[in-house]
Amino acid sequence: MALTIGVDIGGTKIAAGVVDERGAILDRVKLATPKDSAQVAATIAEAVGTLRENHEAEAVGLGAAGFVSADRATVLFAANMSWRNEPLRDRIEGLVGLPVVVENDANVAAWGEARFGAGGREDNVVMLTIGTGVGGGVIIDGRLLRGHFGIGAELGHYRVQPGGLLCGCGQHGCLEQYASGNALTRIVKKAAAADPARAEVLLSLGDGTPEGILGSHITAAAREGDPVALEGFTEVATWIGQAMADMTAILDPGVFVLGGGVSEAGELLAAPARERYREVVPATGQRPVADVVTATLGPDAGIIGAADLARDR
Ligand SMILES: [Zn+2]
Repeated sequence: MALTIGVDIGGTKIAAGVVDERGAILDRVKLATPKDSAQVAATIAEAVGTLRENHEAEAVGLGAAGFVSADRATVLFAANMSWRNEPLRDRIEGLVGLPVVVENDANVAAWGEARFGAGGREDNVVMLTIGTGVGGGVIIDGRLLRGHFGIGAELGHYRVQPGGLLCGCGQHGCLEQYASGNALTRIVKKAAAADPARAEVLLSLGDGTPEGILGSHITAAAREGDPVALEGFTEVATWIGQAMADMTAILDPGVFVLGGGVSEAGELLAAPARERYREVVPATGQRPVADVVTATLGPDAGIIGAADLARDR
């Protein structure tokens, strides 16, 4: 069976794996991301070389945070390192001697989930990655949507509130400001400060102050029925549900996959998101609706998706 290598280039770790045609990771290696961006290519090559000592791989797929050119060769702008117009494909091909494709990290995760995870091989899948920020990927008619410049499917910067909160992208009112892990923490801290007695369970998990509330506390408290934590999930899920409804008008997917750290809360997030989505989807009641499911591959989605895109290059 032909094997390929997928590499997830994170801000702190470079995680690489040998992946088979069924999306199974056979072997993996993890290295610290060098502080100096000029050293990152050498570290990727080292990870690939380590895996090739025991496995015959035919190609390498890389997932990088940032804007990647439509020909999957160049990182135009990296989110977590100093790369600008970095010719990453050619650099890695020169170092490892295998064909290489470069893809946006949210796109590779979406591809992995669509093909081998919660997407169930459905041909029309939208994945929303709800972590510190919000990212996403879109698969339409079995193909990854890249757009003309290669930088489409930036779902976190979908404007849900004109004139709303300032976003890191320089615009106002992006989904990321209302539906990310950071947004959830902000909403819950504010509610706990306003009425600490209602957030008793939540506050007991940290240092007792609203400032000490962490994302992990919110999920744990919600599972125990803490009303402030539950309302935080419902608020975030409401924004996600509305965004999914609007995306449906354009994309008509069969499945929405919710991934990222916040989605580890499972139905605490997915159930209210699904409910809101069905309420506000255009022509509600007159049209079939998409499934809303939680991702199943966790942090491995990037490695699996990148490896499969390298096979399918
Ligand atoms: Zn934005």
